[in-house]
Amino acid sequence: MLPASPSTPLRASERILLGPGPSLMSPRVMKALGAPMLSHLDPQFVEIMDDVRARLARVFQAPDGSFAFAVSGTGTSAMETATANLIAPGTRVLAVVTGYFADRLAQMATRYGGEVRRVDAEWGRAIDPEHVRKALKESGADVVTIVHAETSTGVLNPVKEVAAIAREHGALVIVDAVTSLGGMPLDVAGWGLDAVYSCSQKCLGAPSGMSPIVFSPRALEKKVTCRSFYFDVTLLEDYWVRRKYHHTMSASLIYALREALAGVEEEGLQARWARHERNHLAFVKALDRLGLSILPSPAERLWTLNAVRVPQGVDDAAVRKYLLQHHNIEIGAGLGPLAGKVFRIGLMGTSSSQELVDLLSAALEKALNSLVQGLHKSGA
Ligand code: PLP
Repeated sequence: MLPASPSTPLRASERILLGPGPSLMSPRVMKALGAPMLSHLDPQFVEIMDDVRARLARVFQAPDGSFAFAVSGTGTSAMETATANLIAPGTRVLAVVTGYFADRLAQMATRYGGEVRRVDAEWGRAIDPEHVRKALKESGADVVTIVHAETSTGVLNPVKEVAAIAREHGALVIVDAVTSLGGMPLDVAGWGLDAVYSCSQKCLGAPSGMSPIVFSPRALEKKVTCRSFYFDVTLLEDYWVRRKYHHTMSASLIYALREALAGVEEEGLQARWARHERNHLAFVKALDRLGLSILPSPAERLWTLNAVRVPQGVDDAAVRKYLLQHHNIEIGAGLGPLAGKVFRIGLMGTSSSQELVDLLSAALEKALNSLVQGLHKSGA
């Protein structure tokens, strides 16, 4: 039943967010959320929009002439913006599918009329670039889609190598960097990528709702007639660059994204990637001590999202419940074929710290001990 009193206070605990996203927000990002409201075309607001665009171009390492901005919506809306502006009926798409989110991207390409051919890898493995080369040799493609950091499996895909092959075949490359931007090396100009999108709530550490995206000059030249009004990059450029009303952007979410990006730039991209790597490696060591292992092989692992195998005989939901109830810690469940088989543990943005690695490792140990003792007591 809904509470009867109109004065019931908002109930939202300060969780320790160590799942696949959202991650924790830094105090400066939280403070920005409370800044005064500005309207979506206020002279001060459009200056902030320009600042966000410039910061995004730097954080993506985008080539000159790119259009970097943020879509009003979550990561899926940015996925849809990339798809809706580069794929139309008859576009030949080669979809690299290595997990749940790559499959979503392939489905979206189909919905926008793309003639989609898939090249699949086993869940938990990265794609072999030679499989992409073979598929492109056999039937060509106008667009290749790939997920850089597959959040469902904890796998890092060789985007640089795949993009080079796509380029040899004249195909554009759409890259999902939802779980890598700000946490793992990504170089849009250096790797020759065409449309790359992310989200705000993972390695950047802002609330969800404004999703970074960049279109390279080549992608802007090859835009299709966009079937979506909300996601039309031409109309969005009219708003972001030429100040023409398109939608009422959330000032609070833009402030938060600006502060998060300022934090990334103050830390420095290389230093931030190194922090994510260091804390991931510290966590792997701690898992080792607990007798736990990570699904992908070391060469294919993300630093941002750890897919940890659920030990045999352990109920993954019970572990997650224990961590939340006794330690206020959230971790994620496995998706699709990995449901019940892995925990998805994010160490992203503000949530990537040695202190949190120590806290989580100790809590995991207690959870597993308590549940295993419970099993013994019940004679199971
Ligand atoms: N792509 C990847 C790789 C993701 O991990 C996610 C969400 O976790 C998405 C896309 C969708 O993002 P959102 O849930 O913000 O719409």
